[in-house]
Amino acid sequence: MSRSLSEHLHVCLIIPVFNEEDVLPLLFEALQAFRNDRDERISILFIDDGSTDGTAALIRSVAGAWEDVQLITFSRNFGHQIAVTAGLNLCEADAAIVMDADLQDPPEVAGRMIDVWKDGHDVVYGHRIEREQVGWFERFTAGVYYRFFRSFTGVDAPVDTGDFRLISKPVIDAFRSLNEQQPYVRGLVSWLGFRQTAVDYVRPGRAAGTTKYPWRRRFDLALDGLASFSGKPLRFAMRLGLLIAAGSMLGLVWVLIVKYVMETAITGWASLTFAAFFFGGVQLFFLGVMGSYLARVYDEVKGRPRYVVRDSWHSNGNAVSSGPRTTPESSTT
Ligand code: UDP
Ligand code: MG
Repeated sequence: MSRSLSEHLHVCLIIPVFNEEDVLPLLFEALQAFRNDRDERISILFIDDGSTDGTAALIRSVAGAWEDVQLITFSRNFGHQIAVTAGLNLCEADAAIVMDADLQDPPEVAGRMIDVWKDGHDVVYGHRIEREQVGWFERFTAGVYYRFFRSFTGVDAPVDTGDFRLISKPVIDAFRSLNEQQPYVRGLVSWLGFRQTAVDYVRPGRAAGTTKYPWRRRFDLALDGLASFSGKPLRFAMRLGLLIAAGSMLGLVWVLIVKYVMETAITGWASLTFAAFFFGGVQLFFLGVMGSYLARVYDEVKGRPRYVVRDSWHSNGNAVSSGPRTTPESSTT
């Protein structure tokens, strides 16, 4: 595309930030270089997901001198997936690029995404061919999960891909209509379809600061992903229950044969105790599975706003609004 046409394109970088003051100076430097490099209009939308450090103040003081930077501050921490959702709801560009604040999603790759988008794709996601500073266990579990998610849910979700992706306007509009309470963004974007393609990249380690995704949250995200795309665990519980019931009937027949035909008795209470604990565990597990679906339904039915915005600030001088309120889009979504 020629330079003059590119200048009319507007791409918004959606960057969720949660206690990221350590990495922000490096991020600002990288963003400035990126904006100087590109012909398109590049705006930046920070979603402050309830930071308790100096993140918001730092963004205001540095970006106050910049053009086209917006900062949305949540009233508390709502989580990364919700922050991304808010960004997509608020973005008004021709395309948005969702990226992490810690430079693990390099701007150089974002540039390649824009070029591929201009060649006529609707979604361009970053495919990790290598992950630096990530231990073998995390690599392995993530790899297994992405493949399992794909085959289990039947959603054509690319493997080894996070939320780092370019999403064009038509897809953003479709995404807004989904309105899920606990959105699993990468799954939903895949589910939407359109023309999707990948750019390969080596994912570097965090530039500074520490991860905001501890194992517990990673695990919750993985379960959310599965539960929001498939009811299969419920059917699996039913099948397993039937199988165990059928097996126990056969066991009963065997016990009766031993007692009345062979006229001996099977001894041993330890095996019985073990079996009782085992099936108690299986039952509680599936009660939990069902409970988690019920909780999702409960969340949907309550229909609370998914996030509450405390403050909205724009670098071009005028604060868009301030003071406690819920966003109109959040109260309807
Ligand atoms: N993040 C967020 N809210 C949270 C947790 C994380 O907005 O509750 C942001 C964080 O600031 C970063 C991005 O999500 O920009 C990814 O988080 P992080 O780099 O800590 O995750 P990791 O790369 O370790 O999986
Ligand atoms: Mg990171």
